[in-house]
Amino acid sequence: MDALYTLFSAPEHRLDDHPEHPDRFSQFPPWQSGPLARCLTRLKITPAAEEDLLRVHKPELLRTLKAACEVGGFVDYAPTYVSPASWQAALTSAGGALTVSRAILSGACPRGFALTRPPGHHAEPGHAMGFCLFNNVAIAAADALARGLERAAIFDFDVHHGNGTQAAFLNHPQVGFFSTHEEHIYPGSGAIDEAPHARGRLLNLPLPAGAGDRAFEQIMQTVLAPWLAAWQPQMLFVSAGFDAHWRDPLAHLGLSTSGYFRMAQALISLADRHCGGRILFVLEGGYDPEALAHNTNAVMQALAGQSSAPDPLGPGPEEEPDINPRLAQLKTLHHL
Ligand SMILES: [Zn+2]
Repeated sequence: MDALYTLFSAPEHRLDDHPEHPDRFSQFPPWQSGPLARCLTRLKITPAAEEDLLRVHKPELLRTLKAACEVGGFVDYAPTYVSPASWQAALTSAGGALTVSRAILSGACPRGFALTRPPGHHAEPGHAMGFCLFNNVAIAAADALARGLERAAIFDFDVHHGNGTQAAFLNHPQVGFFSTHEEHIYPGSGAIDEAPHARGRLLNLPLPAGAGDRAFEQIMQTVLAPWLAAWQPQMLFVSAGFDAHWRDPLAHLGLSTSGYFRMAQALISLADRHCGGRILFVLEGGYDPEALAHNTNAVMQALAGQSSAPDPLGPGPEEEPDINPRLAQLKTLHHL
């Protein structure tokens, strides 16, 4: 089974001792020459154009962010840093998602993974924040709609709430959004009863610390599957953040690499059933470079149709809490 990917580590967009750093990509396996090479095709990235950004972002953001990049410094308290190299890096990162998305829509291949940074899902229409400059996944989904897609779904399994993506599509009837995230951490949004005007379309599931592999298996089966069956998107976009891994320094959700592999398999299978097979994973967070290498590799293995993926770090050390009451509440809220 073939899959497409883009890879861009943004080596010049960097700040020493910041977790969102090019070294995040330093331990990635050589997919181009390794055992998966015959299953994976790397695409050359076309950077995003201004009109691509403007489908999601306000013109003021483009002006203020470009000016901030020229000077360098911080644009929020996360802290989100910029430098003269950051503008082009952000265009290329967004272009990485667009390049794979457009290839999928052209029928070249239904599956892909955009492995680029800086990440995107915290970037709101008018604000760069949370290590994110432009909202890569939202820009790709908006582009797909502009090219004729009628309904898109975005599933965000990054450990943080995808506030920027939710803001981008808050009142957009063609885009469904479902974010899982650890409760009580950055950015603080994503309550289970948020966005009451969009029940069945905008879903938020805050999870207790330690909700790990079993929780995500339940989420796939009992929430995501019936939601996709009801929403009927023509393409599934995945904000793939790997900071929910138990080794990640920024959060405590307790997933393992095997858990990510099974989740990727489940997502691909759901895309086959409900989205004509079309699925695009877009990298978001993940701040332990060794864990990020194993976790992104697990998604690549799933995209290539492999039946297992290496998990040298093993399962998380914590006992998993029962999330059934919360799942029941979410299903009731959204009539699933
Ligand atoms: Zn995150």
